[in-house]
Amino acid sequence: TPVILFQNVSKEYQKGTHAINNISFEIRKGEFVFIVGPSGSGKSTLIKLMLREIKPTNGRIFIAGRELSRLKRWQVCKYRRTIGVVFQDFRLLPDRTVFENVAFAQRVIEAPAREIRRQTPKMLSIVGLSEKHKSYPKELSGGEQQRVALARSLVNNPVMLLADEPTGNLDPKNSWEIMHLLEEVNKRGTTVVVVTHNREIVDAMQKRVITMKNGVLISDDKKGGYAHAK
Ligand code: ADP
Ligand code: ADP
Repeated sequence: TPVILFQNVSKEYQKGTHAINNISFEIRKGEFVFIVGPSGSGKSTLIKLMLREIKPTNGRIFIAGRELSRLKRWQVCKYRRTIGVVFQDFRLLPDRTVFENVAFAQRVIEAPAREIRRQTPKMLSIVGLSEKHKSYPKELSGGEQQRVALARSLVNNPVMLLADEPTGNLDPKNSWEIMHLLEEVNKRGTTVVVVTHNREIVDAMQKRVITMKNGVLISDDKKGGYAHAK
């Protein structure tokens, strides 16, 4: 079973206008995929559909074999905890330390304290932030904050990592650091999906690239670049 399967998925926020129009694709375990396309092409809608924040108007979405529209409310909460998510604006808890931000994700799923004491330092070490575990988000650079967000998103060993413009607020050096970490994470086996506008990174990394335009999937290249997205 693919990790992500879209079957003829459409989304109309208002009747008659398609944000997503009859999209089908699959992403298999262990893939690294960029989703690119101009503003308004439907990328955020794809992410919201995958997180089951919204339901498709037509078609079916399966994540790890489960059809999202069929999940009951309590199952939706449980489902979301199996996905790692990283956003452009980091979304850390401002009044908690770096350690607590990462530990919090584990407390939510009621991980045992022993597990939290073991996993949190391990994840902070992977993202290179062991020294900053006592810092608060406002004391960190943007790149460091995003690395905390990444550690938090990975600590519960998600079936996939969704990154929505993860480098949107970062300078080129920090952007590359985050991308290299995502590549690392992918090499360790996690399926990674990255929505981005960062043409330079997409072109350099030579990963699978899905290109959206006006709600339609216009290309899906195994080792693509940003070329079609304009
Ligand atoms: P992108 O992320 O590529 O910029 P979006 O998925 O945000 O694209 O938007 C796709 C289309 O859907 C756009 O035309 C946008 O205006 C429309 N859209 C997005 N969200 C909503 C909403 N909540 N209500 C109505 N229209 C929306
Ligand atoms: P410059 O041309 O200024 O040396 P590059 O674009 O070659 O810059 O590289 C900038 C950063 O991007 C470096 O840290 C490099 O390791 C990284 N980088 C370059 N190509 C790739 C790639 N294909 N995959 C991952 N990282 C890359």
